[in-house]
Amino acid sequence: MTRKRLAVVGNGMAAGRLLDELVRRNAGTAFDITVYGEETHGCYNRILVGRIIGGGTTEEITLKPVAWYADRGVAFHAGKLIKKVDASTRTLHDADGNAFPFDVAVFATGSRAFVPPLDGLTGADEKPKAGAFLFRTVEDCERIRAYARPASSAVVLGGGLLGLEAAKALCDLGQHVTVVHPADTLMNLQVDALGGQFLRKAVEAAGIFVRTGVAATGVRGDDRVTGVVLKTGEVLPADMLVLACGIRPRVDAARASGVPVKTGIVVNDLLATAVPGVFAVGECAEHAGKVYGIVPPIWEQCAVLADILTGANPQARYRGSKLYTRLKVAGVEVASMGAIEPATESDEVIQVVEDRRGIYRKLVVRDGRLAGAVVVGEADSAPALARWFDRGDPLPPNRLDVFCSPDVSAAAADPEVCNCHHVTEGTLVGAIRDGCTSLPQLSAATKAGTGCGSCRGTLTRLILKNSLRPAGVSVNGTGHG
Ligand SMILES: Cc1cc2nc3c(=O)[nH]c(=O)nc-3n(C[C@H](O)[C@H](O)[C@H](O)COP(=O)(O)OP(=O)(O)OC[C@H]3O[C@@H](n4cnc5c(N)ncnc54)[C@H](O)[C@@H]3O)c2cc1C
Repeated sequence: MTRKRLAVVGNGMAAGRLLDELVRRNAGTAFDITVYGEETHGCYNRILVGRIIGGGTTEEITLKPVAWYADRGVAFHAGKLIKKVDASTRTLHDADGNAFPFDVAVFATGSRAFVPPLDGLTGADEKPKAGAFLFRTVEDCERIRAYARPASSAVVLGGGLLGLEAAKALCDLGQHVTVVHPADTLMNLQVDALGGQFLRKAVEAAGIFVRTGVAATGVRGDDRVTGVVLKTGEVLPADMLVLACGIRPRVDAARASGVPVKTGIVVNDLLATAVPGVFAVGECAEHAGKVYGIVPPIWEQCAVLADILTGANPQARYRGSKLYTRLKVAGVEVASMGAIEPATESDEVIQVVEDRRGIYRKLVVRDGRLAGAVVVGEADSAPALARWFDRGDPLPPNRLDVFCSPDVSAAAADPEVCNCHHVTEGTLVGAIRDGCTSLPQLSAATKAGTGCGSCRGTLTRLILKNSLRPAGVSVNGTGHG
């Protein structure tokens, strides 16, 4: 059988996950796979990119080193920006005028950081002034690290997940950091107002200043940033400015290719665009009017697309994702799922406030089932709540029993380490005692660490702590997510 040429445009987390799913289904027998990535690295874990600001290396967050591709027969073109996917001639065109043939193409072009209109942000050359930075790529973070000086000041625009991550990284460098957020509370898309107050307290306790309910309108400084102008007219002195104001799907190449685009690249339940042989996954894809900005939905999309492309399960369909986010933001545990506010008169709201311990929990109950939840300040109840939410099981008549249910006690006694694959500490310790003494072995046995990869540090620590032969433990290797 002649193999088809499968081109993956983009080499971010969606592309990486799709490759894993394809390899798992032996796609190499049906396809010659080629990955075209604008960035010059193998696929890396963008979730951890903030570590670069604190001195981390690209290797530490790399999910697929260049050898990974070659070892699996995948051709990898790093540093190639694809401008157009010409479905009529089955040819990809890159920014340097090169053309590459393909039979099937997948857009995995992700998002770009949104740059808000700010007076004085750019200099005469139309580029952002020295001291103004985006926060998305390894290069962005390397630039931030090179510019940041201890005891200097930074303003971070945006009090969502990205802004708080950037603020924590800068604060850890000894900078005076102020987060400016136009909404009244932090992370207002995932956390309700009261939860946002708890989050704010924890963020402030970490040494970060917070200004909410006010937008920035301009940047001061002739050739470099010296301050940020707020809508009130106040000027916050700042040596640097980090823009973390949201993301926009990268759709330019799809648009230039005549592939239908709304907010993202429009796909159906097969992740197919309207152009035959052209698919899209990840943050660039718009399914049923929704564009997702976190990885769990992307993992689901990649599994379905791999099933479709390889024929492993031609009936596989992506029906959209129930949103569940569990994060550690600036050192604070946050979980959010589904509705964070009631939508109807009959929706019930249960709030448990532990002011002194900085813990806040909220449930939104609709028709006796969990329609949504917010947890700030602890992580033990999150997996159990996610199960109630995901399964849609009827809740106990006393809603508070949810927090005392065996699920929650079990989660507290045996915490989940790998949130992507729901692998608990107990399972991991069992696997280590059964002889998994390296990260690749542990990942192969339990799947832990093969998702976003952010738990791999914890896995390594567990190996060191629980291995029967600690002196001989090997923790290096390629257990990539
Ligand atoms: C700081 C930070 C923290 C985050 N934390 C979390 C978290 O805690 N939990 C969570 O679930 N999610 C988190 N996210 C979001 C998560 O990283 C994204 O959802 C995920 O990276 C999206 O994957 P993607 O492949 O769709 O896009 P990307 O990772 O953006 O990858 C797209 C890739 O395609 C390349 N590309 C674009 N256009 C072209 C082209 N035309 N030709 C060639 N290459 C192209 C880009 O250069 C990029 O390398 C975080 C993101 C950031 C920035």
